[in-house]
Amino acid sequence: MILIVEKMDEQIIKEKIEKSSASFKKVDLYNRTVYVVWGDTIELENKNVIVSKNGLALSLKEWKNEKTEVMVENVTIGRKDIVIAAGPCAVESEEQIFETAKIVKKYGGNILRGGIYKPRTSPYSFQGLGEFGIDLLVKVKEDFGIPIVTEFLDRRSASKYHNFVDMVQVGSRNAQNFPFLSYLGSLRKPVLLKNGMGNSVTEWLSASEYILSGGNGNVVLCYRGVKSSIPETRFNFDVGAIAKVKELTHLPLCVDPSHPAGDKKFVENLALAGIAAGADMLEVEIHSDPENALSDSEQQLNENEFKKLMENVKKLAEAMGRRIWNSE
Ligand code: PEP
Ligand code: MN
Repeated sequence: MILIVEKMDEQIIKEKIEKSSASFKKVDLYNRTVYVVWGDTIELENKNVIVSKNGLALSLKEWKNEKTEVMVENVTIGRKDIVIAAGPCAVESEEQIFETAKIVKKYGGNILRGGIYKPRTSPYSFQGLGEFGIDLLVKVKEDFGIPIVTEFLDRRSASKYHNFVDMVQVGSRNAQNFPFLSYLGSLRKPVLLKNGMGNSVTEWLSASEYILSGGNGNVVLCYRGVKSSIPETRFNFDVGAIAKVKELTHLPLCVDPSHPAGDKKFVENLALAGIAAGADMLEVEIHSDPENALSDSEQQLNENEFKKLMENVKKLAEAMGRRIWNSE
């Protein structure tokens, strides 16, 4: 059960909860006070009481109709302007991340992505640079003045390093790691939350509620496709699901065309389809030398391919009455 409390009702509601056998938590979210109540139904003649539906409450437009905007340094996600995050699958070396950041900036990208803790299916694949990668991200951020998004796999590395980056990515394999999501809810750091590759839309939104119900409203959802039986593409990119999520939630929505495509030939098509379905942000993998990348080599775009993608995203955005966010 979840109670939404306007200031004047707060005392009455608190007393009622305390008299019952329910346990509760008070949360301040988007300048509203919310009591999350477990274990007992509180009888209240109060229009502000909502019962979660399919486990969902705080992520839904029914609770918050106005679109949420998430600020990542000088970039705002969730407005008319489409935000572009681009960068390598993994940070590999100083030269590689600097050369790639140059390309991101040159064609109007707004945020630099780069994995340093890589959640690889095989333990024998390149696992990322780890701690050393943090130093490189800090350097590249200073030199290029560009915000950074990177994935942390656990609470230990997130608590140690989240202050060095501007947005924390939660990957598909960690999308239902509830203790980790709750920890991110205790921060006020922007979170880019991917959908679990086997999750329904409801399960994905439920994951976001672990962060929201901790009082962290800075959540951007990122659609990266789901498992499918079609071997020719890596994951199924369900444009209908993107449109459905946009209808349900006030949270901004990003799409990742790279991982579902699994092949650079399809990345631009999926990026455009995601924007056509209403995405507010794109997270795309690009590399200064994709052929020699240490992970996801087939799907990373080179400079010319990224240039072309940006030109076509710009055209589509204009046709839709939108623009690409201008960080200058
Ligand atoms: C990534 O963005 O680097 C990544 C591993 O994506 P996903 O978690 O969606 O597989
Ligand atoms: Mn990747």
